[in-house]
Amino acid sequence: MDLCSLSDIRALLIKHDFNFSKAMGQNFLVDSSIPKRIVQMSGICKSDGVLEIGPGIGSLTQHLVLAAGKVVSVELDKRLLPILNETMNGNSNLDIINGDILKLDLNEIVENHFVGLNPIVCANLPYNITSPVLIKLVESKLFNQITVMVQREVAKRICALPGTPDYGTLSVYMQFYTKPSMLFDVPPSCFEPRPKVTSSVISLTLMEAPAADCNQELFFRIVRGAFNLRRKTLQNALSSAFSSYLSKEQIGSIIIEAGFAPNVRGESLGINEFAKLTKVFEKSVT
Ligand code: SAH
Repeated sequence: MDLCSLSDIRALLIKHDFNFSKAMGQNFLVDSSIPKRIVQMSGICKSDGVLEIGPGIGSLTQHLVLAAGKVVSVELDKRLLPILNETMNGNSNLDIINGDILKLDLNEIVENHFVGLNPIVCANLPYNITSPVLIKLVESKLFNQITVMVQREVAKRICALPGTPDYGTLSVYMQFYTKPSMLFDVPPSCFEPRPKVTSSVISLTLMEAPAADCNQELFFRIVRGAFNLRRKTLQNALSSAFSSYLSKEQIGSIIIEAGFAPNVRGESLGINEFAKLTKVFEKSVT
């Protein structure tokens, strides 16, 4: 069966009495050039163990199993299991797990399924949980390469540079732990049903060490504080975030001691600059 032929897919879904769930972010790829390109650009080879999140009916999975040593596909929707059984039948290097990726123990998956293989991620993500999934994957430090399709808006935020409108907490978080890059865009016409937004495939390469050496908890409290009130000056934004510990004047002195102008805005600071600020902050709050 051609899993990227719209008529074949429609016939398959009718046969299984399946209807799409918006709540589970179901938009299936129906243009075979896209999964091929994703697999090719992610450079998957037989020494890789690939974790796929949300296989759907297997449009990407069928290409992953050809390239990888092993594929584990985690699918939340039970109704897709009999369909995947039919479409993926005979693939000895594929394990399908029925479960919620946000609840599963990733260590266990890697330990039990990817012995002797290099664990990586390749997936067309369910868009309603893009950020929590990516944060969980990066936090786990188990996968040195993550190639995913996400909404273009999110891809732009992840890759954004300081001082640009898309730059925010997600950009700093992802760039603190990984090197992100945009691979290519995918228009709504490549999916069934068609999503409202354009999608992008991005790759995240885990760095051996985070981009800056500092107290990470404090670093991210400062970053969140700075972007929570992003239209205000950094001094005002951080005064609000740290109001129970420091006065506005103390925060002003910290900003100057860290080498920034008193009216600097958080959105103009890069990771190294937030790290510098973290170090001065740490001296002042402890
Ligand atoms: N990869 C397929 C389908 C992408 S749609 C394709 O490209 O055609 C997103 C898929 O993620 C759906 O199959 C949906 O059921 C599944 N999904 C949604 N939430 C999930 C979760 N929390 N854990 C695992 N899978 C999930």
